Amino acid sequence: MDSNSGRVPEGEMNRREWLKTTGAIGAGSMLAELDALSGFAEESGCAWEASITRLKLRHTWTTTMSSSEYRDTIQVRLTRDGVTGIGEGAPIVRYHENAQDGKQAIDAILPFLRAADPWLFQPLMAGVSRQVQNQFAAKAAIDIALMDWIGKKMSVPLYRFFGLDPEQTPITTFSIGIDTPESTRQKVQEAASFPVLKIKVGLNTDEATLDAVRSVTRKPLRVDANEGWKDKEEAVRKINWLESQGVEFVEQPMPAEMIEETRWVRSRVHLPLIADEAALSPSALPKLVDAYDGVNVKLDKCGGIQQAVRMIDVAKSLGLKTMLGCMVSSSVSVTAAAHLSPLVDYADLDGNLLIANDPFRGVTVEKGKLILPRGPGLGLQPA
Ligand code: MG
Repeated sequence: MDSNSGRVPEGEMNRREWLKTTGAIGAGSMLAELDALSGFAEESGCAWEASITRLKLRHTWTTTMSSSEYRDTIQVRLTRDGVTGIGEGAPIVRYHENAQDGKQAIDAILPFLRAADPWLFQPLMAGVSRQVQNQFAAKAAIDIALMDWIGKKMSVPLYRFFGLDPEQTPITTFSIGIDTPESTRQKVQEAASFPVLKIKVGLNTDEATLDAVRSVTRKPLRVDANEGWKDKEEAVRKINWLESQGVEFVEQPMPAEMIEETRWVRSRVHLPLIADEAALSPSALPKLVDAYDGVNVKLDKCGGIQQAVRMIDVAKSLGLKTMLGCMVSSSVSVTAAAHLSPLVDYADLDGNLLIANDPFRGVTVEKGKLILPRGPGLGLQPA
């Protein structure tokens, strides 16, 4: 799939006119951005630093897309006025991202970032989006660091900055990756404190996986097929069978581009369908109406906190249910998403619980409910 699809704004102007007016062509664009955003130019004292952190997984993690024992994420630090904002983005293999390329993309715009005024966080991120093609994990890392810095400077937790009630967080599912029946049973038992589980399916082991889960628990399940079913008749059969297994909804049953087929499937099943890989940006959402019942919003996928809020707003305006998800990542990224979670219907924010060497402590979970830290910004503490 073309990962650019749906991302380039299109309007009445032809494409070249559009690029000219947004200043996206040539070296002049960065200078123009600097003029617009730097109240302080080089003496702004803004230090930006990007690095790569290797996170070790508690269990080998398998979905239809990959299997691995560690994940590298992009970490960003923004320091100004003695305050440091911390951000993180988990590159998504599905969109041909990796941590090295993401870090390089940030390093390439360091002059722009250093000269920009972080208080102007909206035009700053618009400038980042114009200068960096794709690399949504890198953009998310920058945006999260910015918003953490803003919250710390204003001495408010991010949920308060966005006007949200920290008591209104949803419960989060705990995800069970594809594994042998024996390991699946063990993981389900380890997740005893979570009232709802998310089960990864989409390979030819779906029945064995569900049998293993159901042999040890009767709790409600949500299922993520990660585009695993390529045939619409097969998808209908699987979804109707999952309904009989106590499943609440199914995420991304078919490949993202098969929107018409998914619409056909949806008219023949009862379970709600949630778009994940099909929902990359706010502009991708209108065409999903009638094919899906809701969307899974991820900071790493859409490019950060600010864009996630827009995506949630657009989804709600279209009558779609909303969910916040995450990649395998540290408490930086997961806590950033958790601060927005009072906005959404469902949460799948367990990526930090899957790793063994989390550098920070932020959002915690009690009987499945997300508990937000009360400190300013993200409210992170060293682990
Ligand atoms: Mg998913």
